[in-house]
Amino acid sequence: MLNLILFGPPGSGKGTQAAFLVEKYQLLHISTGDLFRYEMGNNTPLGQLAKSYINKGQLVPDSVTIGMLKNKVDANPGVKGIIFDGFPRTVAQAGALDSLLDDMGSCVSVLIALDVSDEEITQRILLRGQTSGRADDNDPTIIRNRIDVYKNETTPVFDYYAQSGKSLKINGVGSIEAIFGRLCEAINKL
Ligand code: AMP
Repeated sequence: MLNLILFGPPGSGKGTQAAFLVEKYQLLHISTGDLFRYEMGNNTPLGQLAKSYINKGQLVPDSVTIGMLKNKVDANPGVKGIIFDGFPRTVAQAGALDSLLDDMGSCVSVLIALDVSDEEITQRILLRGQTSGRADDNDPTIIRNRIDVYKNETTPVFDYYAQSGKSLKINGVGSIEAIFGRLCEAINKL
C-alpha cells in the first residue's frame, strides 16, 4: 500500500492536491475535516459534538477523531493505498494510525508537508471563506487559533515521522500544477 500523509497548516492546499493525487495514484482519500463537515451537515450527534470544537478553531478530541478514522479505513478494505488529509493532527493520532496500519500489515509510506507562510495561508483561508460557507474560514480570530493549534499540537507529528526518516517538506507556494508536480516527484522517488 502507498499510505501518504498530506501535511501542512490549514489553507496550505492539502484538499486541492489530494483530489489530484487520488486520481493519479488510485488511492482512497480520507479527510477528517470533510468527514466532520458531512456529519455536521446531517446534524448527527457526532456532527454536533465536532461543531462545538471546529467553530472555535480547536481540535476535536483524539478519541472521537481516531474512532471515526478507524471506521472509514475499516469500511474500505483492499484499497491500493490511502491519502490521509488533515490526519494525524496530534502525536497520539499518529501512534493510533501506526498501530491501525500495522494491524493491516502496512505502514505510513511518507509524510509530505506543504510549506506555506502564515500570511499566505491566512489570505487563502479568507478567500476560501467567501465561497466555502465554513464558519471557521470567515473569522480572523478563529483562523489565528487554527494556526496556533497547528504550531503547538500538529507540528510535533512532522518530527515524530522524521525520526523514522519519513517526513518530507516541499514548497507549497506556486500554481496548483507546479505544486502537484513537486508532490509527484517526491512520491515517485519512494
Ligand atoms: P480541515 O478541513 O482539515 O481544516 O479541518 C477543519 C476542522 O476539523 C479542524 O480545524 C478541526 O477542528 C477539525 N479536525 C479535522 N481533522 C482533525 C483531526 N485529525 N483531529 C482533530 N480535529 C480535526
